[in-house]
Amino acid sequence: FKESLQEIADVAPLTLDKSLVNLHANINSVMEIDQVLRNGASGVGLFRTEYLYMDRDSLPSEEEQFEVYRHAAIQLKGRPIVIRTLDIGGDKKLDYMPLAKEDNPFLGYRAIRISLDRSDLFMTQIRAILRASHFGNVKIMYPMVTSLDEVRQAKSYLERAKLELSALGVPYNANIEVGLTIEVPAAAIIADVLASEVNFMSIGTNDLVQYVLAVDRMNENIAHLYNPYHPAVIRLLKTVIDAGKRAGIPVGVCGEMAGDIRALPIWLGLGIEELSISVQTLLQVKHRLLSSDAATCKSLVDRILLCRTSDEIIELLAQTEQLEQ
Ligand code: PEP
Ligand code: MG
Repeated sequence: FKESLQEIADVAPLTLDKSLVNLHANINSVMEIDQVLRNGASGVGLFRTEYLYMDRDSLPSEEEQFEVYRHAAIQLKGRPIVIRTLDIGGDKKLDYMPLAKEDNPFLGYRAIRISLDRSDLFMTQIRAILRASHFGNVKIMYPMVTSLDEVRQAKSYLERAKLELSALGVPYNANIEVGLTIEVPAAAIIADVLASEVNFMSIGTNDLVQYVLAVDRMNENIAHLYNPYHPAVIRLLKTVIDAGKRAGIPVGVCGEMAGDIRALPIWLGLGIEELSISVQTLLQVKHRLLSSDAATCKSLVDRILLCRTSDEIIELLAQTEQLEQ
């Protein structure tokens, strides 16, 4: 089966009725880029840069980061690469930068909140990303945004970094695309507002599901309650995707749910334009995509939106899968 999957690596990611869904890859390290290319991904939809900061004794310098981002951009030969700024806190720690102990780290000092508080770290990273943008199709994405204010603040740091580089005569893409992850319920609810301020949005279902359901994604005692098929989640996904469409900007998904084969009819039915998936599962999703019909998925989603429980939703999805076989 693996070998036959490899055969579809270079096939265009179109449904039977010719809807295009870009299949991008999530990477934690640039070492994965070879596999990204081998599996025919149209780009990198999420580069989790925190791994560059982990497993070492000090912060990576601007130069070090620039080299990594530049190399990645060049290797991808014009395909997009979405570089997500540092997302530590929550479950991810840096040994050399101890954060105060918190009772609720997932609700605490995390991601963009740290970046906006530690502008020294943030500016170093933004300058490195901007410099790399001269060498390929680099985009920047801010994690765990909750308000319009945060987006505006992050963008003003970006503008400041551009001025600094310009003053030094360092080249960069002045029109670099800016995006944010939608992974906090507040952001999902005001996605229409946030959409007016960015070039793209990407739904981080891993965090969005934990925050919508108030179920810690790391807590094994309640793992059975972590259910991406809860009707509240599905309704919220629709809100975000519709907001993106109205604003005329692309919306993607970069959480694990993007790579869950079962969820594919939901994405197709909601009209998603991009799925960013771990390199390991990308071709399995593509296999199902190639034999799916987007119009059928649209009517399925109409029925899913009427469901009252996750069991009802999962049952409908299972029936669809059986019909396909
Ligand atoms: C997410 O929250 O869905 C996501 C993609 O980010 P991470 O898993 O790195 O928190
Ligand atoms: Mg997240």
